[in-house]
Amino acid sequence: MNDDIKVRIESLVEASEDELRESFVEIDKRTYELQKRVLAAFTDNRVSDSHFAWRTGYGYNDDGRDAVEKVYAQVFGAEKALVRTNIVNGTHAISLAILGVLKAGEKLVYCTGEPYDTLQSIIGTEGDPEPGTLKELGIEYGSIDLIDGEFDYDSIEKIIKEESPRMLAIQRSTGYGWRKSITVNQIGEFIHFVRSHGSDAVIMVDNCYCEFASFDEPSAVGADLVCGSLIKNPGGGLALSGGYIVGREDLVDRIAYRLTCPGIGAECGLTFGQTRVMLQGLFMAPHITAGALKSAMLFGRVYNKLGFDICPNESMERSDIIQAIKLGTPEAVSAFCKGIQSASPIDSFAAPVASEMPGYDDEVIMAAGTFVQGASIELSADGPMREPYNVYYQGALTYEHGKIGLISTLESLVDEGILEL
Ligand SMILES: *Cc1c(COP(=O)(O)O)cnc(C)c1O
Repeated sequence: MNDDIKVRIESLVEASEDELRESFVEIDKRTYELQKRVLAAFTDNRVSDSHFAWRTGYGYNDDGRDAVEKVYAQVFGAEKALVRTNIVNGTHAISLAILGVLKAGEKLVYCTGEPYDTLQSIIGTEGDPEPGTLKELGIEYGSIDLIDGEFDYDSIEKIIKEESPRMLAIQRSTGYGWRKSITVNQIGEFIHFVRSHGSDAVIMVDNCYCEFASFDEPSAVGADLVCGSLIKNPGGGLALSGGYIVGREDLVDRIAYRLTCPGIGAECGLTFGQTRVMLQGLFMAPHITAGALKSAMLFGRVYNKLGFDICPNESMERSDIIQAIKLGTPEAVSAFCKGIQSASPIDSFAAPVASEMPGYDDEVIMAAGTFVQGASIELSADGPMREPYNVYYQGALTYEHGKIGLISTLESLVDEGILEL
């Protein structure tokens, strides 16, 4: 690539960054408040050096584990938290919330349309359902699509009246869809609507990618259960594994019975020396998330200027760290991911290729040269290899790294002859 193009790419990115200064200041103000909230949860719960030690065997009286869970509960404004390394990912956290609460004959309704790809395998298919799926267990399932990014209250009212679902689920982030993320305000209104129509359904929120992207978390506006992954926002890039579920105490206790077994619940379970990185990661999470948000905005603005459709666009309120870009061709998605990968600190020499992944129907391409395998709070991009060939950008442990990643994707698209500048 000649120097001329390099200079043009750089100045496009710099100019876009300048245009975003005001929005960045807004994020900084909120982050300051969130950092105070997180710090208060540490001091109120008297977190100390001894909480980094860990036990063996049954793991009874693990003070570090208890501290992690108390701090999480306070940060999220919830009664109780279950935060474990052996919740293996976000999908597991969500499935625990569903399977821990629902009994045969009860119904789950997703009110944000069909859930994330990996959740589909938990629902199961008609006919000969896979072992352990909702279908096999006799738990009913339905979904109601959003209308222009808003809840379809007519259909929700109808289903509440006619079927009294036991659980209503909200997926905030779009997954591999094309819509803005669900804001905490929308969730608050939703819960008010549901309760004022006489339903005491458990409101469960898939909060993946949304932690610290808004001032409040869903539990603060009355969500009964909120779930997510520690290798996304709340792990702050430091947690090596894990998931969290926060919410109503009676429900979290039930879910702990599902995670281990009835009678044992949350009282056992080793932390394997992870409490330090879990706590430090949570402490860093507001700042890390802020950097990820800013880099997503920069990607959005630059690609939009180049004529690509983006979601969210700049008129939409952003409440997750994802920037979807409609690149339109498989070649462009590959080139974009190649750019991300080559700008990664780990495995920069690898070329991402689309492949089958457990839990996904279509082939998926993922670029993630990360310190923690698959951690999408680190600089990463991915997308299913299907029409309309969107790529989903997220993460970056530092804003500066996000910016470098952006330049690298542009160079890669130019190199492949997909983009002219
Ligand atoms: C990432 C994500 C999940 C969970 O994915 P895992 O890879 O299992 O952690 C669930 N829902 C949404 C919306 C997500 O973005």
